[in-house]
Amino acid sequence: MSRIYFDHSATTPLDPRVLEAMLPFLADSFGNASSQHAEGRKARGAVEIARAQVAALLNGDANEIIFTGSGTEADNLALIGAVRESVGPAHVITSSIEHAAILETCRYLEETGVSVTQLPVDSEGLVDSLDLEAALRPETRIVSVMAASNLVGTVQPISELAEITSDHGALFHTDAVQAGGKIPIDVKVAPIDLVSLSAHKLHGPKGIGALFVRHGVELSPMVFGGGQERGLRSATENVAAIVGFGAAAEIARHDLESEAARLGDLREKIVRELAETVPTAYVIGHPEKRLPGHLALGFAGQEVLAGRLVQLLDKAGIAVSAGSACNAHHADKPSHVLLAMGYDAERARGLVRITLGRFNTEAEVDRFGAILPGLVAELNPDLDWTTSPHLAGTALAETTA
Ligand code: PLP
Repeated sequence: MSRIYFDHSATTPLDPRVLEAMLPFLADSFGNASSQHAEGRKARGAVEIARAQVAALLNGDANEIIFTGSGTEADNLALIGAVRESVGPAHVITSSIEHAAILETCRYLEETGVSVTQLPVDSEGLVDSLDLEAALRPETRIVSVMAASNLVGTVQPISELAEITSDHGALFHTDAVQAGGKIPIDVKVAPIDLVSLSAHKLHGPKGIGALFVRHGVELSPMVFGGGQERGLRSATENVAAIVGFGAAAEIARHDLESEAARLGDLREKIVRELAETVPTAYVIGHPEKRLPGHLALGFAGQEVLAGRLVQLLDKAGIAVSAGSACNAHHADKPSHVLLAMGYDAERARGLVRITLGRFNTEAEVDRFGAILPGLVAELNPDLDWTTSPHLAGTALAETTA
């Protein structure tokens, strides 16, 4: 029986249409996009088409897209680039549940004398705009709040946060690595200055990211060299990966609405079934403001066994994760995201993340629903499910819409 892949927040399989678009640029069309001859012009043309495709995902203009080597690099460029461009003391605001690409960059900035405020979140992972208003200072240079959480799937009110930040005169950045291509983001409507994206989260290739930089926003580069990407990211362009990113962005934009509805339905099906079959399961994150195919679960009384459950699922042919792939090296540590959401240290280790993607089917969801209850029961046979209370999160029965 074939394996089931339910870990799309970690990475996604390459769409065959994306691979097809990339292949010529890994073979005969090998030109350097900065060369003046026909080979170079062909590569340049392909890069510029991809730039427009990625920009369209955000309703931005093509020349507002800077290609980077990853989502991580886009995050670094946004924060470090904005701070280095400013004069005098700098203050950065972020949230306490960001990806390491933001939190570690903030830690680095702190070491260089920048002051950093981490906004709290509520028990469902939402940032409160009043907390942002209270944290803004005259020297605040940039506010960075992720569009959606990689771990719990909660979608932040980024338009509102961007408005507040813009009224204050600071830059607003959002890490949309998880949200890009899954929920609408429109930079013509919301005053968002900087947006990070990564192709491998939307069925594109790994090792290619982008930073949307609004017209007029000044950043300092972090990589120096030949001046490619408007001087903000020197290096010979990775043409095949850029073309793949463009194709992936185009498909994601075209199918965004229908795919969000389809994945939302599959997720609800899992929730409805588990509400019947695994009464200890609870949903972590916001029950409605969430990414469509994202389901973060806890199992009351069995939180310490989440890692074991993920292993059992893997053995049964189903790939899910306990926490984010980036924290896999610290699997024994409680999640900083769940701690920030108010979970205690034990329950903050107990998250099982199921993230659906383009090629998942209802049959796979059914197979998962049939297998999971037995594995949960295997974990801790002594636990009385019927009396074990929901210690945190939202009981599944309350979330089915
Ligand atoms: N930001 C978020 C929210 C992510 O989920 C990830 C990857 O997991 C990144 C940034 C880093 O992106 P990349 O893998 O392209 O470096």
